[in-house]
Amino acid sequence: MKSLLIINAGSSSLKFAVFALPLTQDAPSIYRGQIDGIGANTQFVAKDVDGKVLLDTIIKSPEGTPLEEQQQLALDALLNWIEAQNIQLAAVGHRVLHGGEDYVAPVAITPEVLAKLETFIPLGPLHQPHNLRPIRALAKKYPSLPQVACFDTAFHRTQPWEAVTYPIPRKFTKEGVIRWGFHGSSYDYISRQLEGVLGKEKAHGAVVVAHMGNGASMSALRDLKCVATTMGFTAAEGMMMGTRCGTIDPAIVLYLMERHGYSAADVSRFLYKESGLLGVSGISQDMRTLESSDAPEAKEALKLFCYRAAREIGSLAMAAGGLDAVVFTGGIGENSQFVRNAVVDYLAWMGAKLDPELNKVRGKAHCVHTADSKVALAVIPTNEEWMIAHHTTTLLSLK
Ligand code: AMP
Repeated sequence: MKSLLIINAGSSSLKFAVFALPLTQDAPSIYRGQIDGIGANTQFVAKDVDGKVLLDTIIKSPEGTPLEEQQQLALDALLNWIEAQNIQLAAVGHRVLHGGEDYVAPVAITPEVLAKLETFIPLGPLHQPHNLRPIRALAKKYPSLPQVACFDTAFHRTQPWEAVTYPIPRKFTKEGVIRWGFHGSSYDYISRQLEGVLGKEKAHGAVVVAHMGNGASMSALRDLKCVATTMGFTAAEGMMMGTRCGTIDPAIVLYLMERHGYSAADVSRFLYKESGLLGVSGISQDMRTLESSDAPEAKEALKLFCYRAAREIGSLAMAAGGLDAVVFTGGIGENSQFVRNAVVDYLAWMGAKLDPELNKVRGKAHCVHTADSKVALAVIPTNEEWMIAHHTTTLLSLK
């Protein structure tokens, strides 16, 4: 069967989805899964279209195998498994963190494009090298297999100068220390669903899309284009997240260094791994766990998450010049009735009203506001892998 492989490669994980060709609107992936714990205890799980586990195995490597070699072993294991399913790959689409200033849309990989993407590694050292490694490996192994890169940053390149510029010395701005924004494939997908869910007029108005998952960000759209977003130079800025603090006083970092002797690695752990829902609750980064906990710290973590999310909506409404609609997506946005309710409560002064019955409906794109709400409210499940698959087929004219 002719198929597309979609890869989202990180340093210790490789997520994948396989779509059959021809690709239809919102077609489910025929296989999906992930390889986790690369570099420690590498586990490969593959599932079919119904979520049935087809494979759950440990990928072994000799003690002391360098990380890069283990990443290669993981990719090889995936390719071998795909071959064993009788799948013929027509192309591979990749989620790539950074497209820099050059790429405002997905691009077919050539040696020149790959070389350019490598120059963006300093802008995203935690992700970009890991995103590019499988592209390089596949190009070497199958030189005629077409590959496409879809960038997390591309959707946000429509932001105006004042939305992307930090008030810092220009020499840093010139070298790329600007507010790039991320989660682009998710916003790209949602922006294409807006007309169908909100109607043409509202969809083209001022819309805030809240992508709330383990990582969380929001974007303000005007006429379906991004005018502002909460993530900035890195995915650490903006909302409170599972383990990331989001925006804090930057001088807290100086305090930690001077008072507590924090190194760069300590600061990184503090910003990315120890804060957010986990840091405040001291219990978990997982929204479901916190919602079902009676601990006061869990309740405080939820309150802070929703309060800060609502404040970001206020700020983005300014950037969008109003607020016609708020759209919730991502694991939390799509599933947490509690979070949607608490966030919309903060927007009551704008006349936003959530319908409690509609708020209970799950698993489909739908509006959740009352008839007299002044702001449309909607839940739209995101589909980043399908979006990458769509760009891959379109760009390569695959049938
Ligand atoms: P994501 O990164 O998009 O997969 O989202 C992960 C987050 O979604 C975690 O915090 C989960 O606890 C949260 N989540 C998933 N399902 C639910 C649910 N039914 N209710 C509340 N939160 C959920």
